[in-house]
Amino acid sequence: MQKVEESIKEYLLENIRTIPDFPKPGIQFKDITTLLADKKALQLTSILLCEPFRDQEVDYVVGLESRGFLFGTNMAQDLNAGFIPVRKPGKLPHHTISETYALEYGEDSLELHSDAFNKGAKVIIHDDLIATGGSAGAATRLVERLGGEVIGYSFILELSFLNGREALSKTAPVESIIIL
Ligand code: AMP
Repeated sequence: MQKVEESIKEYLLENIRTIPDFPKPGIQFKDITTLLADKKALQLTSILLCEPFRDQEVDYVVGLESRGFLFGTNMAQDLNAGFIPVRKPGKLPHHTISETYALEYGEDSLELHSDAFNKGAKVIIHDDLIATGGSAGAATRLVERLGGEVIGYSFILELSFLNGREALSKTAPVESIIIL
């Protein structure tokens, strides 16, 4: 079974392209548009993302803009949960709360509707990829400010050399399909 899972992961990795120097020099950008276009890879990714959470009670999947929306809604349906978007500044139409996080150069912010869920909600935070963990960390603070409980993190790809897992795993388990 382990062997089957490994070959599935290899298949998914084959369907993710690396674009050198995008969006700026030195970044090896992991492009999942090729994975989305392959019907087998699309189905398998959806299944594997949900696997670690099947036995848990999940109220919401929180997806990070923008690639966290692609599988996030599907995960939410599969786990019998709702979906909540965390967005870049100025995109959400109602009252929001905001958290800032550090980038390699400068900083960025993420926003969440301040009435997104009730206190005590059990939440999974999902994105396509974890690098430094800065954006998932900001999403964690947003969820916790509203009284939500982060019960897990979900990613397709993890760039382990950037150590993003370290800070997040103090809050909840980090589940990545492929760890590079
Ligand atoms: P971080 O906050 O450092 O964990 O960065 C994760 C966010 O940046 C995710 O939304 C990713 O989609 C994006 N990202 C960071 N590095 C890459 C990369 N090498 N390839 C594709 N997306 C990336």
